[in-house]
Amino acid sequence: MGEQKSGKGKVVIISGPSGVGKSTICREAIKRLDNASLSVSVTTRPKAEAEVDGRDYWFISRDEFQRRIDDDMLLEYAEVFGHLYGTPKDKVDEALRSGKTIILEIDVQGAEQAKAIYPDAETIFILPPSVDALAERMNGRGREDAETAKKRLDKANNEITTAERRYEHKVINDDLQQAVNEVVQIIDAASHKHSSAFGDAG
Ligand code: 5GP
Repeated sequence: MGEQKSGKGKVVIISGPSGVGKSTICREAIKRLDNASLSVSVTTRPKAEAEVDGRDYWFISRDEFQRRIDDDMLLEYAEVFGHLYGTPKDKVDEALRSGKTIILEIDVQGAEQAKAIYPDAETIFILPPSVDALAERMNGRGREDAETAKKRLDKANNEITTAERRYEHKVINDDLQQAVNEVVQIIDAASHKHSSAFGDAG
């Protein structure tokens, strides 16, 4: 219990095109937030060399993913570039019960599902300084072939258009520290909004 008055946590949804630096921003933001954790998704995508199972994702088979859908273990899920990605329910429930902020770094389809379940969720979209900058970063990353990189870029363009309408906050990742500051401020403000809402309710 401690100092925390409200027992209710907060869901924060962060989306943005791949290559925009969302993961880095999320990881840095977590370090600066007291009471927040990052949800680890399950995915059927193969693990990249630098990734760690259980830290970046839980890497599972399609059969196992399907089993989790059937057992209603996922809060939301979506197919992105031919692979399935989903948010395990249990960790989100646990965080909310203990009054924590839980950050979901998920795509726009998943964001829509999660927002339907948690209408109070704060939504943040990370934007590249320009689409050219994004293309450069993707080429530099060298994680995939040219065709997949192009698919990611096309999806990025579509997502950016959608984001303008659907996300409450947009953060441009031009300077990493600046972007992290903005995300931390949005999440801090959201926590305050939440607790003052109790005072206003009566
Ligand atoms: P990547 O393969 O680059 O790690 O992720 C591809 C896309 O899947 C990104 O847009 C990422 O935000 C999204 N993603 C990651 N985890 C989840 C999840 O649990 N649910 C949904 N809907 N999308 C996810």
